[in-house]
Amino acid sequence: MPRSVRPRTERLRTEALLVRRVPFGEADLLVGLFTEQGGLLSATARGARRSSKRFPALEPMHLLRVTLEIRPGAELAQLTEAAIERPRLRLAGDLARLEVAGRALRWVREIAPAHTAEQAAWHELNGLLDRLDGASTASPQALLAETGLRLLIAFGWGLELTQCVRCGRACDATQSAQVDPARGGLVCRACGGGPLFLRPEPRERLLAAMLGDAPEIPEEDVPIALELVEGALTAHASGG
Ligand SMILES: [Zn+2]
Repeated sequence: MPRSVRPRTERLRTEALLVRRVPFGEADLLVGLFTEQGGLLSATARGARRSSKRFPALEPMHLLRVTLEIRPGAELAQLTEAAIERPRLRLAGDLARLEVAGRALRWVREIAPAHTAEQAAWHELNGLLDRLDGASTASPQALLAETGLRLLIAFGWGLELTQCVRCGRACDATQSAQVDPARGGLVCRACGGGPLFLRPEPRERLLAAMLGDAPEIPEEDVPIALELVEGALTAHASGG
């Protein structure tokens, strides 16, 4: 008999974050995992709803270590093991921090390409969760805004805040800039402008935050920073 040419199942053991969990079938869970080694993956956790003993660690926010079996061509992997590698108990017990963490996890769930390792995004997201779990005095919203700007860079969509994305003209350092996050950054008036205005000082501070040069985004810049991030993410999530 000829040898089987059936492609082999790959076993992936990796750190992971739970980004989604929904009931599946009678006893299973469908989970979305953002993994260090394989990026965004969907998997079934068999029997997870019948017995909580099977996968006691399937909780969001904590750093998990999972084992997945991935059959070539199959859309869903199979989760065979999950353990908590590093618990984030302080984060898990604080509603304001949880809300912020949930928003960041949702961003990654919506924009990360499937089955593609995204190391930079992995480190940004875990860095945020660690800071939310730590003793940081920065506001959760400020940490989220900074992470959002840097996640955009990690996914290759960093906002251009120094020159017009259409004609390349540098922005006058003393002038307010018009920004269209869906088009990737500044758009000068001659090129049609954008829906958001960014004053010179916040622009400098957000640029520093994107480069990791700033201690933290000041509270007054958080709303515009989050608007920029959400605007860019929405454009990319809808296939823009
Ligand atoms: Zn222009």
